[in-house]
Formats: sequence, C-alpha cells, structure tokens
Amino acid sequence: MKRPSILVLGAGYGGLTTVVNLQKIMGTDEVDITLINKNEYHYESTWLHEAAAGTMTPEQVRYDVKEVIDPVKVRFVQATVEAIDVEGKKVLTDNGEFTYDYIVIALGFEGETFGIEGLDKYALSIANVKAARYIREHIEFQFATWSTEAVKDDSRLNIIVGGAGFTGIEFLGELANRVPELCKEFDVPREKVRVICVEAAPMVLPGFDPELVSYAVGHLESKGIEFSIGTPVVEATPEGVNIKKGDDEFEFIKAGTVVWAAGVRGNRLIESTPIENMRARVKVEKDLRAPAFPDVFIVGDCALMINEETNRPYPPTAQIAMQQAETAAGNIKALIQGQTTQEFVPDLKGTVCSLGDDDAIGVVFGKKVTGKRASFMKKMIDNRALLMMGGPKLVLKKGKFNVL
Ligand code: FAD
Ligand code: NAD
Repeated sequence: MKRPSILVLGAGYGGLTTVVNLQKIMGTDEVDITLINKNEYHYESTWLHEAAAGTMTPEQVRYDVKEVIDPVKVRFVQATVEAIDVEGKKVLTDNGEFTYDYIVIALGFEGETFGIEGLDKYALSIANVKAARYIREHIEFQFATWSTEAVKDDSRLNIIVGGAGFTGIEFLGELANRVPELCKEFDVPREKVRVICVEAAPMVLPGFDPELVSYAVGHLESKGIEFSIGTPVVEATPEGVNIKKGDDEFEFIKAGTVVWAAGVRGNRLIESTPIENMRARVKVEKDLRAPAFPDVFIVGDCALMINEETNRPYPPTAQIAMQQAETAAGNIKALIQGQTTQEFVPDLKGTVCSLGDDDAIGVVFGKKVTGKRASFMKKMIDNRALLMMGGPKLVLKKGKFNVL
C-alpha cells in the first residue's frame, strides 16, 4: 500500500518545527515527508531587526535547513511555491509540481501597508532575510553618499520607522546602538542623524504595560530616538512620508530611509486558494485544520485563532507558531493512525521586547522585567528556539552568548 505523503510548505518557525516533530514521531516506513522552502536555509524571523540595523550579519541569523532535518526521513526541496491547489491536492512551484495526502501551510507573514499610498514602492519592510540585508545596505549607502557628496543633503541621514509595535521598537533599539557606529565609520557627526518613529496610536506599544512602555521610550529617547505619537503615516513618496497631525494638519518629513513596521498579514498565496481568509490569515479549526479542507493544516502567521478570554485574535508570534507546529505534527500522525485529533491550546509564557543588545522590557510568567535581566531572558528565549529546532549543537553554533 502507498505510504501517505505529507507536504510542508515553508521552513520558518512553523514549518521547520512541524518537520522536526514529524521526523521524531513518525517511523521511516510510515510516511513520505517533503519540506519545500524558498531558500536552502531557515532564517530566524525574530532576529531580522538585528540584520536590518546591521548589528548582526544576515549570515548570523540563518542556518541550513539540512542542519536540522533527517535526510532519511525528510526530502527537502528548495523551491518557491507559486500556487496551492487544495481541491486537486497539489502544489505548483518553480521546481515542479508536488501532490500530497496532508499539507501543512506555514508560509509566514508579509508586511501590511493597508493600501497607504506610496508605501509599497518607497518604504522598506523587515519581511525576510534578504529584505533585512537590503535595509542595512541602504542605510550604509545613505551614510556613504552623505559623506562624499559636495552639497550635503542632511535629510538623507533621516531614518523614519513607521509603527511602534514590537518590531518597530526592537528595530529602534538596534538602530540606537548602530547609528553611533555608522557615524564613526562614515565620518558623520551624530547630531546630523535623526531617527524618528511615527506611530498612529496614542501610545507606543499599544496595549502593553504602560510602566514598561515608559521605560522603553525613556531608554530610546536617551539614545537620541525621536517619537511622533498619534500621528499616522498617510503617504510615502521618494522623499519621505506625510503624517497626519490633526483633522486638517499634515507634516511632511523628509528622509533617505523609511522602514515600514506597522503590521503584518499572512502570505498572499493563501488569497488565491478557495480557503476562507482575512488578509491571508485563515481562521483555523481548533485542531489547526482549514475549514472545509480536512487535509490542510495551517500554522504560524497564516493561521488565525481567537483567544476566547479576550475575544481577540492571538498575536502572530514565533512562540505560537512553534507550539502550533507540534500540535499539527501530532494531529497528522493521529489521522494517519485513525485516531482523533487534539485541540491546540496555546501556552503563553510571556513577551520580551529587546531594546538593543543591552536592554529589554518584558512580562514573563506574569512578572515585569527590565534592563540586563530582561535582555538576558530575551537571549535565552532566542537560544531556546535553536535548542528546540536543532539541539545543543545548533545552540553552540548559532546561539547568543554575548550576555552582558
Ligand atoms: P516565518 O518564520 O516567516 O517562515 C515562513 C517561511 O516560508 C520562510 O522560511 C520563507 O522563506 C518561506 N516562504 C515564504 N514564501 C514562500 C514561497 N512562496 N515558497 C517557498 N517558501 C516560502 N515572535 C515572537 O514570538 N517573539 C519575538 O521575539 C519576535 N520577534 C520578531 C521580530 C521581528 C523583527 C519580526 C518581523 C517578527 C518577530 N516575531 C516574534 C514574530 C515571528 O517572527 C513570526 O510570528 C514567525 O516568524 C511566524 O512563523 P512562520 O513559520 O509562520 O513564518
Ligand atoms: P503590530 O501590528 O504589533 O504593530 C504595528 C504598529 O504600527 C501598531 O502600533 C500600529 O498602531 C502602528 N500603525 C499602524 N498603522 C500605522 C500608520 N499608518 N502610521 C503609523 N503607525 C501605524 O506589528 P509588528 O510590530 O510588526 O508585530 C507583528 C507581530 O510580531 C506581532 O504579533 C508581535 O507581537 C510579533 N512580534 C513580537 C516581538 C517580541 O515578542 N519581542 C517582536 C516583534 C514582533
């Protein structure tokens, strides 16, 4: 009898954790497992702000998929998924067509621009490792150009960060440390550089603990970061962004770099399937299957689940993506063995937001943490993800040990 085939799309936190779990719990002769990913490497999306600011290299935030998969149990195919045919149970890629009995869609997030004019064209987004490298090099190019141009355009050195959510704040934390280094490297006086965070909501990190928010803002302001709060970006142009300051009041801020960190959506490929979705996120069943498609599991940022206590969706995080992946792997095994699937129950341990390499804020197991302790915890969380994916060997190779 033909073995059931499992196709996993995406080798991010969700996809790679699914495969690592499947190879642990399924026997070699039981199933055929294929993992498809755009690149031959996995990148740590949760470290992308560091690669974008230039405080880590793109190489440091990624590792080969082959380091964590067992080639006897899993076939890895480097390919870009072009279409998912959930009715015909096949996937089209730039490297051939693949059929499946069960599929796990874990194709991650894309930056959301909410249709704001010019953002797609003129703003940069910390969306993947290549985009992060581009941001780093773009900022360096602006500094290099300023230091060599005869008539100096100081606005070239302005960096605007749209959105003061966790991504925006973590990126600002890295920039706060990186800008002085760049100034030294490119002979630019520090006072010439403005880093401005523009946030639509009336506070930074909307909904997060106000005391911790105030700590973060104080820390970043002390390093020269400026905040414009309650002022949504309404347009981007090649010269900068237009922000709304009142009913009929607007301000144009010129800048050589605009980084858009104001929210995420699911992968657009979902939108061309018949699966019901909102901004490419699928409200999955309790066992993580797509409604009306019992062979399709969706994990990570393409999945949407409502927290019944708050009646709001759980935020798309790596923490949840990895937990969902473990449940999805177990549920596929259950289906293959004719058993019933389990409900996914998130086990939220907390949130830690870095403010550069040397500081952080967070709530862990209900307790507030700041400073070096929080920064240490953030590094341990990062190392734990490596441990779960590839064991101690991967932690030793890629882990963060620069504990201050
Ligand atoms: P991803 O990890 O994005 O993986 C998707 C994978 O699919 C990638 O490997 C990609 O290359 C691949 N792919 C995409 N399209 C295709 C295609 N067409 N064909 C083939 N392959 C494709 N969450 C936390 O819990 N803690 C944090 O500290 C944290 N920090 C963050 C910091 C930043 C800067 C950002 C941007 C996000 C952060 N998050 C954090 C959120 C977290 O990164 C995401 O929730 C998580 O990455 C989602 O996992 P995923 O597997 O769904 O997607
Ligand atoms: P987000 O949706 O959490 O934050 C986006 C921010 O942009 C919000 O504050 C919003 O008010 C603002 N915004 C929206 N439109 C705007 C406009 N027109 N002008 C100015 N500001 C605007 O998005 P994110 O920060 O990219 O985070 C995405 C997900 O990743 C979240 O689930 C987050 O929890 C997770 N994440 C977690 C961590 C961590 O745990 N350390 C770090 C980064 C991201």
